[in-house]
Amino acid sequence: MLLGHPVAHSKSPALHNAALRAAGIPLVYEALDVEPAALDDALSALARANGAGNVTIPHKEAVAARCARLTDIARRCGAVNTFWHDDGELVGDNTDVGGFDATARLLVGERRGARVALIGAGGAAAAVLAAVEGWGNAQVSIYNRHMPRAMLLASRFPQIASPVADLTSALRDATLVVNTTPVGMRDSSHPVPLAMLPHGAAVFDLVYRADETAWVREARQAGHRAADGEGMLFEQAALAFQRWFGREPDRNAMWKSMH
Ligand code: NAP
Repeated sequence: MLLGHPVAHSKSPALHNAALRAAGIPLVYEALDVEPAALDDALSALARANGAGNVTIPHKEAVAARCARLTDIARRCGAVNTFWHDDGELVGDNTDVGGFDATARLLVGERRGARVALIGAGGAAAAVLAAVEGWGNAQVSIYNRHMPRAMLLASRFPQIASPVADLTSALRDATLVVNTTPVGMRDSSHPVPLAMLPHGAAVFDLVYRADETAWVREARQAGHRAADGEGMLFEQAALAFQRWFGREPDRNAMWKSMH
């Protein structure tokens, strides 16, 4: 089950139903459009059914607040994207962190000492910070259009993160530029102008579209290593399947379902 609002565009049902079919598990994964006011009723129904699933915008923080138990990483993020029931208790995890980490490893290789420009300061940005905390000697500059939110997020990760007031400061010496805003989701706008990207910096857009985002495509044409959010979506789904069933999903079947 995917809880979100809206959810119609989501690739999660296709991914998980492919994994369930390949594993011979007689369950169906469905997307459930839940308005914020209906979240408690939806969670009560899921508790009665011993349900498990994922959470997306705008419910990740609200579900974290309602869990009886959180994994350390979900507590660090203050957000849940994966849940299940254990002895009747709601348990929350955050596999966006591992999904980002695995995809960033493929994109940049050695992540130790990375200098990250983080654009946006919402729930996905918190997952990026929780991953970067594990990289060793990495530093993150957070730029958000509303500075107070960047300051608040940075204060939760004081060892690695600083808020900055403008894009130029965020991008100074950056080896990895990460977009966690929805900019570019519905049109070809760029969260960071290509001309401002530091020479050699890798570009990671958490947004995904059917045929990549314009920012990722054009950054690659300009010589940057670049990835959109599809790989992260795939990896967080594979990790969620492991949490629910205690085994690896058929990654080929999942990958095929996305294309
Ligand atoms: P969120 O908590 O609502 O945060 C959104 C952030 O984007 C905020 O910092 C917000 O700034 C900023 N923002 C929104 N519209 C903007 C605009 N027009 N211009 C500049 N900044 C803007 O959302 P989220 O959960 O972090 O998700 C953010 C994005 O990441 C979504 O597109 C989501 O699909 C994507 N995502 C992808 C994956 C994946 O697996 N690939 C996983 C998680 C999230 P303010 O604070 O100023 O409002």
